[in-house]
Amino acid sequence: MTIAIYPGSFDPFTNGHLDILKSGSEIFDKVIIAVSYNINKKGFLTVDERVDLIKKSVAHLKNVEVDSFNGLTVEYAKKKGADVLLRGLRTSFDFEYELQLSQTNNALYDNLKTVFLITKPEYNFISSSMVKEILVNNGDISKFVPQNVCEFLISKRDT
Ligand code: ADP
Repeated sequence: MTIAIYPGSFDPFTNGHLDILKSGSEIFDKVIIAVSYNINKKGFLTVDERVDLIKKSVAHLKNVEVDSFNGLTVEYAKKKGADVLLRGLRTSFDFEYELQLSQTNNALYDNLKTVFLITKPEYNFISSSMVKEILVNNGDISKFVPQNVCEFLISKRDT
């Protein structure tokens, strides 16, 4: 049984993240999508809000589990018995960063293999920071995030 973890900030979870997760769930026996957080860094959404929104967005994917962790990804992977680290690639900028990250993780824990999935062209430009920028400027984010995420973000912005 191959278990993959898909770590990230997911602040917020976007349609690009969902696409990578869905493909991962078709390849691996189980995928754990895990919100990685740093107690000293405050995001737009709380960790609990991110986990909750992802759970609702991925309820239809039966072999996907949603979790959160703080600290080193490799330690979390060991704890979960994961063999694969799943990451998404959009551009060569992502590649430069992900190459370094993957090699660092490998130096810390050789048993964890990073698998990259290339984003579909229609999701290529979507990023969590772009979604937040459009949101705070009252733009339409409905094309970029799942519906439940869209509704929650708008209600949080307006309160
Ligand atoms: P991090 O802070 O770890 O980069 P993100 O939430 O920004 O967390 O991204 C998590 C993962 O999802 C990364 O591998 C990132 O490259 C990937 N990703 C982000 N946006 C997209 C997208 N639109 N299409 C495909 N992969 C994406």
